[in-house]
Amino acid sequence: MNAVVDVVAGKQAALIERLGADMVMTDPADQARFCRDWHGDVQSGTVAVLRPRTTEAVSQAVRACAELGLAIVPQGGNTGLVLGATPDTPDRQVVLSLERMNRIRRIDVDDFSAIVDAGCIVANVKEAAEEAGMLFPLGFGAEGTAQIGGSVSTNAGGINVLRYGMTRELVLGLEVVLPDGSIWDGLTTLRKDNRGVSLRQLFIGAEGTLGIVTGVAVKLMPRPTQVETALLGVSSLEAAIALYRRARVDCCDLMTAFEFMPPEAFTLAIEAQPDLKMPIAGDYPAYVLMEVSGSGLVDVRALLDRFLENVMGDELVQDGVVAASRAQAINLWRFREGMNEGQAMRGPHLRTDVSVALSQMAAFVGDAHQRLAEALPTAFAIGYGHIGDGNVHLNVIPAAGSDAEERERVIYAAKNIINELVDAYRGSISAEHGIGRLKRPDFEKRMPDSHRKLLTALRQAVDPNGLMNPGCQIQAG
Ligand SMILES: Cc1cc2nc3c(=O)[nH]c(=O)nc-3n(C[C@H](O)[C@H](O)[C@H](O)COP(=O)(O)OP(=O)(O)OC[C@H]3O[C@@H](n4cnc5c(N)ncnc54)[C@H](O)[C@@H]3O)c2cc1C
Repeated sequence: MNAVVDVVAGKQAALIERLGADMVMTDPADQARFCRDWHGDVQSGTVAVLRPRTTEAVSQAVRACAELGLAIVPQGGNTGLVLGATPDTPDRQVVLSLERMNRIRRIDVDDFSAIVDAGCIVANVKEAAEEAGMLFPLGFGAEGTAQIGGSVSTNAGGINVLRYGMTRELVLGLEVVLPDGSIWDGLTTLRKDNRGVSLRQLFIGAEGTLGIVTGVAVKLMPRPTQVETALLGVSSLEAAIALYRRARVDCCDLMTAFEFMPPEAFTLAIEAQPDLKMPIAGDYPAYVLMEVSGSGLVDVRALLDRFLENVMGDELVQDGVVAASRAQAINLWRFREGMNEGQAMRGPHLRTDVSVALSQMAAFVGDAHQRLAEALPTAFAIGYGHIGDGNVHLNVIPAAGSDAEERERVIYAAKNIINELVDAYRGSISAEHGIGRLKRPDFEKRMPDSHRKLLTALRQAVDPNGLMNPGCQIQAG
């Protein structure tokens, strides 16, 4: 034990000598927040937390770690939900946090683009774009903490994917520090550039296994000047999907969000935020939170009113409210976000993030609920999310009062039921959140040989010493 402590102390001293005390954090109390996952389910440790301020400093840090044989776990806002940024070998890994690299390098209104440090918080990039009269359309519950580099590394999705795409579709260029410390400069803002293989794509969704993203060039959009938000009561998930298809056509691609919520979502949100008041009179079997937005000459409110008139006439929607102000719209969104907190308050539970083809979604969710109810009758299952993208969070909460062992049993059994069904529907066990360490066993189990071969070859070519985030995505580098 003492030998391990001595080795760690030696590595810490060597890091400080090479990088300076300002960059190297060694006090376990200071390190704790970097070694805990967002839910607080896992608390680990690390040799050091490195907090460089520039790309050159990241490069020096990576070279120092390579010399000392230390593996690197890159970390952004630490909001990832699959333990990708949580170290798992405390005496051999450092956390490299991008939190001090938070400069907006350039906003270019004429080019509809921005270049930012990877450590910029997503909400700050959005704010900077808005101040320039533009929109950066990435949007999700953790945007106030998550960083743009983390979003690139997980290819984050969120509520606006149906109109603007996942992060991958918003990235024009990247700057990356490679595992040998060299800097790959692919920080272009060109929209069209077909000079062979697009290397930036490799780093998007790589979860820090191929290098450290230090700079990101993104697309900006015209800022919508009209945003209309509606909460609609519908008869079922099937009706919600039919409504989605109709909205895609009738709202002329101006729809920016379409979130499905069952009635229990409101109970959970109110449990977490008791000041919330039910925004719609009457109870409905299912709800949709929908947003339509646009800029320029189009009249978005008139479009939404006509659309709602038509779909209510066709009995696709039973009732609904349209927010009369920005404050009311924010209030509607509080239900969608508050339901996550409500689930967390009910204790450890299974959280999934799966996708199937939209045409299979209703059957899949129906089958899942039926199998879960048969196998785990006392557990509470809830399905909600960005259903327009074929993405559903099917979460399972063990019965109140279950002890830790029983919770673990329910979570494990529910996960297997859902994953097997995802396989049967040829879906994905990770629609948005990535693989990290949490989903690695389930990912590896399903990985065809050809896929593993390619992934292993790629990692070995880019990172022959296996220093970048070992244990994330696949076991061996
Ligand atoms: C309340 C809540 C709601 C969420 N909603 C959504 C949602 O709707 N859609 C969605 O897609 N996700 C969602 N997430 C998940 C999470 O916010 C995203 O995955 C986000 O992109 C993670 O960003 P981060 O900066 O926190 O990354 P981290 O958690 O710090 O890291 C995530 C992964 O990226 C790697 N990484 C981080 N920064 C870098 C870098 N600069 N270079 C290389 N690798 C790096 C890490 O090693 C890790 O593997 C949600 C999370 C929470 C807590």
